[in-house]
Amino acid sequence: MFHYITDDCIACDACRRECPLDAIRPGPKKYAINEAMCVDCGSCADVCPTLAIVNRARSEAEIELGWSSAAALDRIKIRA
Ligand code: SF4
Ligand code: SF4
Repeated sequence: MFHYITDDCIACDACRRECPLDAIRPGPKKYAINEAMCVDCGSCADVCPTLAIVNRARSEAEIELGWSSAAALDRIKIRA
């Protein structure tokens, strides 16, 4: 399990500066997390202004249900 950056990323760079393992890098369209390095601490998700960073296992479950990443996060917050 690891964290994943969705298309809601606006490339603000906040997550890259927050990651203690330097596992986040800019990509061609959005930032990306190196899944082999990520220890799932969640620090990056805490600072993302667009809630673009999600837990991979949970987001896949939500996507299976046909919800967008933003809608999925809203539902995760409601359940939490
Ligand atoms: S903090 Fe969020 S919006 Fe900013 S670069 Fe990271 S994923 Fe993208
Ligand atoms: S969850 Fe933690 S280790 Fe993984 S990318 Fe985010 S800040 Fe880095």
